[in-house]
Amino acid sequence: MTRILAIANQKGGVAKTTTVASLGAALADLDVSVLVVDLDPQGCLTFSLGHDPDQLERSVHDVLLGDEEIADVLLDTEDNVTLLPATIDLAGAEALLLMRPGREYALKRALVEVAEDFDVILIDCPPSLGVLTLNGLTAAHEVIVPLQCETLAHRGVGQLLRTVTEVQQITNSDLTMLGAVATIFDARTTHSRDVLSDVADRYGLPVLDPPIPRTVRFAEASASGSSVMRGRKNKGAMAYRQLAENLRKYWDAGEPVRTFDPS
Ligand code: ADP
Ligand code: MG
Repeated sequence: MTRILAIANQKGGVAKTTTVASLGAALADLDVSVLVVDLDPQGCLTFSLGHDPDQLERSVHDVLLGDEEIADVLLDTEDNVTLLPATIDLAGAEALLLMRPGREYALKRALVEVAEDFDVILIDCPPSLGVLTLNGLTAAHEVIVPLQCETLAHRGVGQLLRTVTEVQQITNSDLTMLGAVATIFDARTTHSRDVLSDVADRYGLPVLDPPIPRTVRFAEASASGSSVMRGRKNKGAMAYRQLAENLRKYWDAGEPVRTFDPS
């Protein structure tokens, strides 16, 4: 069965896109066939996988509006993941979708067409809780929340969890909150740990293992439009590989997803 995982947090800069790109590449290295979906009008995932959003003639926008078949829009990438790209057109999709019945189901309906070609589909949600994120959560089986472990990391988490609960009640009763992933984690300070355990306790959120350490390689990679996984040995890439193994065991062997105890 295809597993569809949404990566969501309405806060920007918490490593949603980095997580989708890195986890996708790490899963592909494990011979998992992966589709990644860029749901952010900024197109950062599209760019980081080597495609310039400004040069694309069609994107997820046309798929959501029913103007293109999803199979005609998919792109190959050098990371061996397939990409459903975004362009800035997607910024207008919110308003266009709002006028349509069943607007939360547009992505789910499209993914059904290609799901059997992929083992895992990762959805990079935009930094808002609007109709695009609702489409991501409605299409997904599971959701992960990346948390940057800095002061005020908890702000907005309650609102996100309420949105997840509403989606479970209204458009997707199959949705499971898998937990948080600690991103840009600084293991050398107790601050990251304290913030993480505070958020985990406050919201009863499991924290998936392992945390993703802060590493300068990620900033370099996303700026150059080349994969973060190509520098195979850096500690961030290694952590995403472990996270991929953790998720694969959970999906394939039904093992409980391994968690990290920040305290
Ligand atoms: P989001 O999609 O949530 O807005 P991004 O994935 O674009 O976040 O990441 C925001 C910034 O943080 C980017 O510049 C990215 O390169 C950087 N970043 C992500 N993960 C790490 C990390 N583990 N260490 C250092 N920088 C990171
Ligand atoms: Mg992003």
